[in-house]
Amino acid sequence: MADSRHRLSRQFRVSNGDGFELKHVDPGSTDHAEPGGKQVAAAALAQGVERMAELQDKLYAQDRWALLLIFQAMDAAGKDGTIKHVMSGVNPQGCQVSSFKAPSAIDLDHDYLWRANQCLPERGRIGIFNRSYYEETLVVRVHPEMLARQTIPPELVGEDIWQQRYRDIRHYEDYLGRNGVVVRKFFLHVSKKEQKRRFLERLDNPEKNWKFSAADIRERAHWEAYMDSYEQMIRHTSTERAPWYVVPADHKWFTRLVVADAVIDALESLNLAYPTVSEEARRALAEAHQQLLEE
Ligand code: ATP
Ligand code: MG
Repeated sequence: MADSRHRLSRQFRVSNGDGFELKHVDPGSTDHAEPGGKQVAAAALAQGVERMAELQDKLYAQDRWALLLIFQAMDAAGKDGTIKHVMSGVNPQGCQVSSFKAPSAIDLDHDYLWRANQCLPERGRIGIFNRSYYEETLVVRVHPEMLARQTIPPELVGEDIWQQRYRDIRHYEDYLGRNGVVVRKFFLHVSKKEQKRRFLERLDNPEKNWKFSAADIRERAHWEAYMDSYEQMIRHTSTERAPWYVVPADHKWFTRLVVADAVIDALESLNLAYPTVSEEARRALAEAHQQLLEE
């Protein structure tokens, strides 16, 4: 994988969303991947996964920082596969995955960040959100009847609710950052055409039938509204502390490389190291060593 001067993922990072336009990121891009495409990428990914495992081991041992990785995408963009491949080398003890589905009655009885807050990674861990509180500015924005079901006092729900939510989230992520939770967000940007191809594959291949849900087709009908909501979300919630990565997702091998690279970039920025042992503790270790030899 690239060193920090020319990291593959940097070109897709948005730390300031002012004026961001989705149309400037091509879902089919494989820009700046090593020549050799898919085959070379598999080796690079394996190397990246190994590097990530080393870094995670230190993260865990040091027990100070936590890393929160948020994944958002349209259906069939490859969230599940990316999470599976990128995290494949990571010790399961140091990793927590949370999937956010439609909120339950109990969830709806609380503010919208409540359920996510309970799933935050502990210090030393990597937490993965497969969907997240960002759905509150995406699916809920595309389907206003969902907002009505949230039973927020009506006088608090006005035209500017989305701007308020972006602000809530910016502040929330800043708060997390100041508490040692490093937030990185990934929008897997798949094209409408490639989504169709993947849906058809799910329908045609019996082993993939289980992945298909009729609801996915219904959401596809709202493609433009979703893209608009994603664009707004990226504009208003990209920050230095919690950047979005807009990752081209028409080629799965490329998506995985970019995400792995961004995760390594985040972990390397923390200057992780194994905790050093004090003089006193070192004496205790030497004593234990001696005791074992004398048994
Ligand atoms: P997969 O289909 O790959 O198993 P998925 O993440 O699409 O994974 P589903 O059970 O198909 O899982 O869908 C979850 C649904 O829950 C999505 O349609 C999503 O928009 C919806 N959802 C998630 N969070 C919220 C929320 N806060 N409010 C309303 N709907 C939500
Ligand atoms: Mg789904």
